[in-house]
Amino acid sequence: MWLLHRCSLWRATKPINCWDNCGTKFGRLSFEVIKKLTDTKYDAIVIGARCGGSPTAMLLARKGYKVLVVDRATFPSDTISTHLIHPPGVLALKNWDLLERVTATGCPPIDTYSFDFGPLTISGAPGTKECPVAYGPRRTVLDKILVDAAAEAGAEVREAFTVTDILTEGDTVVGIRGHSRGGEPVDEHARVVIGADGRNSTLAKAVDPDEYNQKPPILAAYYSYWSDLPVDGRFEVYSRPHRGFAAWPTNDGLTLVVGGWPYAEFEQNKSDFEGHFMKMLDLAPAFGDRIRAAKREERFAGAAVYNYFRKPFGPGWALVGDAGYNKDFITAFGITDAFQQADQCAKALHESMSGERLFDEAMGEYQRKRDEHAMPMYEMTCDIATLEPPPPELQQLLGAASRSQEAMDQFARVNAGVMSPAEFFSEENASRIFANAH
Ligand SMILES: Cc1cc2nc3c(=O)[nH]c(=O)nc-3n(C[C@H](O)[C@H](O)[C@H](O)COP(=O)(O)OP(=O)(O)OC[C@H]3O[C@@H](n4cnc5c(N)ncnc54)[C@H](O)[C@@H]3O)c2cc1C
Repeated sequence: MWLLHRCSLWRATKPINCWDNCGTKFGRLSFEVIKKLTDTKYDAIVIGARCGGSPTAMLLARKGYKVLVVDRATFPSDTISTHLIHPPGVLALKNWDLLERVTATGCPPIDTYSFDFGPLTISGAPGTKECPVAYGPRRTVLDKILVDAAAEAGAEVREAFTVTDILTEGDTVVGIRGHSRGGEPVDEHARVVIGADGRNSTLAKAVDPDEYNQKPPILAAYYSYWSDLPVDGRFEVYSRPHRGFAAWPTNDGLTLVVGGWPYAEFEQNKSDFEGHFMKMLDLAPAFGDRIRAAKREERFAGAAVYNYFRKPFGPGWALVGDAGYNKDFITAFGITDAFQQADQCAKALHESMSGERLFDEAMGEYQRKRDEHAMPMYEMTCDIATLEPPPPELQQLLGAASRSQEAMDQFARVNAGVMSPAEFFSEENASRIFANAH
């Protein structure tokens, strides 16, 4: 594959073809830079080997590209993140032939999403025929499966390797500099460097991409794991004014409980966050009783995140997952989104590296599709994260929806990313929900 690309590069006669074949603007680069790029060892280097990075590396390696994926972490390892994967994310795992590995870990399926608003509860099925359920595998389990899949596909995986610098020639990214633990600095070159290195992406910092639709942190939340807290295949969500929490099953018979309050309360609550957390759970007294009869098995972890979109490509570089787009975790979409972006980014890079399309054209489509798909959920997520009570019209609609199983399934599917918010809240659908309420 690599030889083939080198040949097609040297066959290229016009600058535009060079861009096309090499993922960079060769038309403007010196002979030395072209030479250096053609001498590079890898087609792609991926920084970060979790939900965005390993699938991208795996998909490119499965296409025959020579891929290096590095992470400063070793695997299995945890990271600060809860881990609900909605049915579209589960479908990605299925399409990649990895779902059976997740289910083989004993992680139970989640077939019901239940939203308790206090006066009413909406309980519905989140999935589709093709993929009816969600899962909540521990990141220790999920990320290891993803890293192994990248290695099995032929990607070279370098764990415990920290990228310290991004190598550039002019405005083109040409490689990385990093080191293994206690090791000397090493340079590696590639035709494209992909940042799947999360919210504090080293690549994003180096290339400083356009950032848009930013919003400051909205919610502060904490989570931990309990035994003897059965949830019977349900993703249980509790919404109260300025408080919200959720529970779902994960590996080893444990149930994850996550909840929080507006970021404005972060400072005043942080010295006794556990007290505030437990008090919050009592806002749903039956749940409060259940959790007090259960046993917490792990320490609490917590986070608050900044919300943004970043332009996910430029000369010699691309961004996947949180490195390119991040939103509050209240709707639990980061992993599902990272999987879908991995699919789309790998497809666009293949189109470009194989010479089918210009780099800018293929990656421009990647950005357009990402943003079109993400924007409605981004706005909905940022809105939900305020933990403001639903406005009166929405309360009426939810009241009507709670009296029709079809509407409750629709609501579950909106929150699972299977049905678009625009379709659910359309005048036509709202009229149908009111007409069917009994
Ligand atoms: C509290 C919380 C709860 C969440 N809950 C959910 C949920 O329930 N469901 C859901 O779908 N999403 C959830 N998310 C979001 C989800 O965690 C992220 O969207 C997802 O992890 C993104 O994957 P990623 O691969 O882009 O980045 P990450 O998972 O952040 O992985 C980035 C990797 O890059 C590596 N890295 C970074 N810099 C370097 C460097 N310089 N050199 C080498 N390696 C580097 C890191 O070690 C890391 O392994 C939650 C997030 C938070 C904070």
